[in-house]
Amino acid sequence: MTDNKKNNPEKKNSTSSQDQESIGVLSRRLFLSKGFAASTGSFLLASSARATSKSEINPAALQTDFKFKGKILTPSDLEFRNVAFGGLWNKLHTNRLPQIIACVADEEDVVAAVKFARANKLKVSIRGGGHNWCAPSLRNGGILIDLTNLNKVISIDPTARKAVLQPIISNRETQAQLKPYNLAYPTGHCPPVKLSGYLLSGGMAWNQGVWGPGIGSVEAIELVTPEAKMITASADQNQDYYWAARGAGPGLFAVATRYHLKLYPLPQAMAASVYYYPYENLVEVAEWLGPLAGKLPSKIELSLFILSAPPELADKCKLSAGKVCLVTATIFADTQDEAKAALAPLDSCPLIEKCLSKSIAQPTDFEALFDASGALWPANLRNRVDALFSNANPADLFKAVDSHFLKVPSAKTLIMFALFTGSNIPAPLPDACFSMSAKLYGGPWTMWDQSSNDQSNIEWHDQCVQLLKPYMSGHYVSETDTVGHPTYAKDSYKEANWHRLAELRKKYDPEGVFFNFTDGLS
Ligand SMILES: Cc1cc2nc3c(=O)[nH]c(=O)nc-3n(C[C@H](O)[C@H](O)[C@H](O)COP(=O)(O)OP(=O)(O)OC[C@H]3O[C@@H](n4cnc5c(N)ncnc54)[C@H](O)[C@@H]3O)c2cc1C
Repeated sequence: MTDNKKNNPEKKNSTSSQDQESIGVLSRRLFLSKGFAASTGSFLLASSARATSKSEINPAALQTDFKFKGKILTPSDLEFRNVAFGGLWNKLHTNRLPQIIACVADEEDVVAAVKFARANKLKVSIRGGGHNWCAPSLRNGGILIDLTNLNKVISIDPTARKAVLQPIISNRETQAQLKPYNLAYPTGHCPPVKLSGYLLSGGMAWNQGVWGPGIGSVEAIELVTPEAKMITASADQNQDYYWAARGAGPGLFAVATRYHLKLYPLPQAMAASVYYYPYENLVEVAEWLGPLAGKLPSKIELSLFILSAPPELADKCKLSAGKVCLVTATIFADTQDEAKAALAPLDSCPLIEKCLSKSIAQPTDFEALFDASGALWPANLRNRVDALFSNANPADLFKAVDSHFLKVPSAKTLIMFALFTGSNIPAPLPDACFSMSAKLYGGPWTMWDQSSNDQSNIEWHDQCVQLLKPYMSGHYVSETDTVGHPTYAKDSYKEANWHRLAELRKKYDPEGVFFNFTDGLS
């Protein structure tokens, strides 16, 4: 299968009239992605039959004929590029642009926008929080439905431990809303990421060992379908949509407008241990940590990082180009005694004498955890990310990349692997498209500032993924480059799930109203 590498970062912010014309031309070409067609034919057959030439479309009709209340933007509007690119986390931009952006005012506007798209044979893409690292919300042509205003907490029922939330609510805000009720949800790790695409992708969550992935606690999802109907999907109704929405990520053929969440009691004694070891001891630390992970309770979240040393340790890390090895263990416990006892084995590392700095079983909370994650994955950077699942020994993974990491062009880049704890690998959910499960999850988060350094960082990143490839069992669909490497989408699912998703798309979106994983990328 041929990878699509035409996502040229150099063309950032350069939508000349020529580009805009080419967008129209591309839309008329029906977005055929030839290389991918061979092996994923059903996706393409289902989605290649829509396109209207730009000149035939009257965007104002969205308001006049379809009663759309939000903001409509076309390339001639000053705000158009700001909304298209400004809402993206990754500052390594693409030159893909839609023909129209429809910023919805409410859920009914989503219905109106899909109806308009159908009437005009425009393909639909969706902007949730804009945090997907490879920006699949931007496609060449079509209508981009921007959900930014779907940001309301609809209800929280502390007695039933249930909440209904619109998609554009961040991880930090979700936990903050639930805390007064002593409740919590398996959100993602970084503060600003929105529930929107996080949940649809599966959701690698805080306390995943106990609560499961984020999507595992979504009891129902309200969706707008390709026929522009509002439906609720759950285990009891519209089960195919429920199955697909639980993991399809950028491959979903519907718009999620509300999530019905099952909540959990907030753990009363969260605590974290942090150990910095010399980079030279990385492989030994990984060799010790691998077997230990299986013996720790699953309520401990365990991660091993390689990254630039914090300023206070920089002097001690000169021999390793300023790099250091970091072990973090966070427990979602209910008493401090439980937390201390469970984290104690982390202190018995045979290399503990070499530890450069440590902090043991310190009480923490979601606010502090978000602050810590936010510092590791800062905003306003250029990024390439590929998070992988693996059943290899962590030592083998780190051996594969330890010398490569010493040559990393950017000091902001890190490699992290989360080691699932507990005696069993978390089983895949029985009734969800999300199907990856393994002993480890992680990879390189390549982050840098300057466009002049794009090439060196992208090359370094791609080499790093190649070094890890022999050890991986799959990709994570929303933290991997499904745009630059469309095969990574397929590699994010068990074969049967990938095929079922394709079949469901063919059944429920036969006209290809929604962009699939690959349409409109080149
Ligand atoms: C700093 C950072 C930290 C992260 N940490 C984690 C983590 O801890 N765990 C984890 O699992 N992931 C994590 N991610 C990845 C993130 O969860 C995914 O990339 C997710 O897709 C982002 O959601 P979004 O709504 O911002 O996506 P967007 O970029 O807005 O959308 C991406 C695609 O998702 C689909 N989509 C989004 N919303 C909807 C919707 N409402 N209805 C239908 N389709 C929709 C669309 O196809 C869209 O093209 C992190 C990302 C960042 C930037």
